[in-house]
Amino acid sequence: MDKKYNFFRQGALRPSDEQLQDTKLFYRNSQAIYAVQDKWQDDDRFYFTPLYMEMTYSCAGWVAEVAPDPVWLGSFVKTIRKAPELFQFQCPKCGKTVLPYRYVGSPLSGRVDLEGRCDCGWSGDESVSGWRQRAIALRDQLASDKVRFYKFRLLHPGMGPGTIRELLEQL
Ligand SMILES: [Zn+2]
Repeated sequence: MDKKYNFFRQGALRPSDEQLQDTKLFYRNSQAIYAVQDKWQDDDRFYFTPLYMEMTYSCAGWVAEVAPDPVWLGSFVKTIRKAPELFQFQCPKCGKTVLPYRYVGSPLSGRVDLEGRCDCGWSGDESVSGWRQRAIALRDQLASDKVRFYKFRLLHPGMGPGTIRELLEQL
């Protein structure tokens, strides 16, 4: 295993039903949210919208995760944009570029399913190799966003992060 990160799940808290529903709202509306990234990425409340994506793989009692929940919306989208060779793929139906909304797989086989949705109506997943490098790309982005997150918390005590529902209402 990589020395920098521990990929085994460390006793994560179960997200509430409400939090899971909000994340599902992101899955369903991911193209719309990607399309107007410029409108929300500078707003800390929306950048740090928590997503509970459960990007995990279980095997005989242990669980490996791409990154621990929650994953911040802004960090997730930035990772997808920054490394198109790792995350973007062509829609099998119309050939347009698809940005995935989630990726899960097995660190043992290294296979990853990039789950995505296309404007043409196609939705499904693209199976690729390279579980670890995608996990590291996301974790690196989350780590580098921590300073901004602490600053947001410090400057706005009591202000919670936004939700996908609120973001969609504003778009
Ligand atoms: Zn398509």
